[in-house]
Amino acid sequence: MQRLEHFIDGAFVAPVEDGWLDNIDPATGLCIGTLARGSAADVNAAVSAAKAAAERWASTDPARRASLLHAMADGIEADMDAFVSAESIDTGKPVSLATVVDIPRAIANLRYFADAAVTFCDRQEQYTTATASSVVYDRPVGVIGAISPWNLPLYLLTWKIAPALAMGNTVVAKPSELTPTTATMLADIAREAGLPDGALNIVHGLGAEAGAALVDHGDVAAITFTGGTTTGAHVNQACAGAFKKVALEMGGKNPVIIFADADIDAAIDLAAAAAFANQGQICLCGERLLIEASVFDHVVDGLVQRAKALQIGDPLEQDTRFGSLVSQAHRDKVEQAVGDAVAAGATVLCGGGRPDSLPARVANGAFYKPTVLTGLAPDARFNREEVFGPVVCAMPFTDEAEAITMANCTDYGLCASVCTGDSGRAARMAAAIDAGTVWINCWLVRDFRVPFGGMKHSGLGREGGEASLRFCTEQVTVCTATTSTVGASGAVPSEPTT
Ligand code: NDP
Repeated sequence: MQRLEHFIDGAFVAPVEDGWLDNIDPATGLCIGTLARGSAADVNAAVSAAKAAAERWASTDPARRASLLHAMADGIEADMDAFVSAESIDTGKPVSLATVVDIPRAIANLRYFADAAVTFCDRQEQYTTATASSVVYDRPVGVIGAISPWNLPLYLLTWKIAPALAMGNTVVAKPSELTPTTATMLADIAREAGLPDGALNIVHGLGAEAGAALVDHGDVAAITFTGGTTTGAHVNQACAGAFKKVALEMGGKNPVIIFADADIDAAIDLAAAAAFANQGQICLCGERLLIEASVFDHVVDGLVQRAKALQIGDPLEQDTRFGSLVSQAHRDKVEQAVGDAVAAGATVLCGGGRPDSLPARVANGAFYKPTVLTGLAPDARFNREEVFGPVVCAMPFTDEAEAITMANCTDYGLCASVCTGDSGRAARMAAAIDAGTVWINCWLVRDFRVPFGGMKHSGLGREGGEASLRFCTEQVTVCTATTSTVGASGAVPSEPTT
């Protein structure tokens, strides 16, 4: 049985109040170990360690910081199989997915931000006028709190800690208590790689306890949060009172929009991936499928075929393509959402329940079949609220204007996919849809360099590339007089630029 302790000041430590939580494997329903239930006392210890380490880490050469992040990436790579299976066991996702997405992407996050920060730190903005010369420095903000969700545990944890560490900040991270294992493994690797004590600290526990204590801590200068919109609103309020920097990546109710002029087979493949990847538990999943009326039946038939063909089974088997949801409680939530949709008039074209048979090892797992619904209005509750499960609702539209109205009729604005063979139409749609990312004939293509985030209730600020590096720094302008800037009268002159 695992026993996952906090990682504070370079050492694994038990929680001050000796509270422990069960870690459940959702595919089997079995308890696989315990994890520390962090309290404010643990957060205080972690923040103190991070604060004590901050000055030394900030003044460490960026190239040295980068080499330590690369060493951490090497460490994950060397232990790839263990990371893949731990991520699969904690989340219920198939090992086939963790092998190609979660763990490689975590490695790539560390490597990308290590190198990007060196380039970023090498740049120096300088401006001169007739009387003064200004240099802009990017200074680390100090201690950054990183709060991450359960759906892509190591992927999203490293997405936050890599830019923070690379830019010279120290970090206290609070992973989801549902998926704590790979964070602990990463801490072990950080220690082996030689990351200085206190640079990275991990506090396990519940959001309302450890998470809230981290957000509220006076010595935490910035919070980067990925999770649900309701939680994000709490985090935002707490940060506002203390004028903390905050980045919020939250939920989505993303549309996939298919026009009749698209490559229809490719569009159906895209819609199926967007609906069912990671059992529909990616913030970028397409839970709404808008289809031009003339191809509606064809697309829906194709989607149902693909949903039925997905290999559901034991996440630890290599040929499984569709695993368990993250918990029984989350499966209940998805079941409730589909039940409510049906009560509101939805037709279930496939799925709509638990699998009829499962391998014995996972017979008690939190599985739910890939589900396709029709028959709901664009503003029905199902089409406005994030379900975060393998359920998609298909709806017909007649023209671009109607597709845009439907796409924008939620409070969310994270991403959208538009499938069309007409580049002019693609450009018009991208300009009109309220979403931080609009993909044309693709989905989930993630370039590290591009800003990522949501509009409306999906997010505040952007992460990715330079946006992440900027979030992790404060700009300081040092303006040096090259000649007298104050007249004899004491009047401050206006400053012409050269
Ligand atoms: P939650 O909002 O429930 O939790 C996210 C994190 O916040 C967890 O670590 C959680 O801890 C913690 N937390 C909960 N309450 C508080 C609090 N009061 N103060 C501080 N921290 C707190 O989200 P889920 O874990 O359920 O993740 C699913 C959600 O994440 C979905 O809505 C999804 O759309 C969104 N998401 C967004 C992404 C994006 O980039 N936009 C990417 C991935 C997911 P604990 O788990 O212990 O409660």
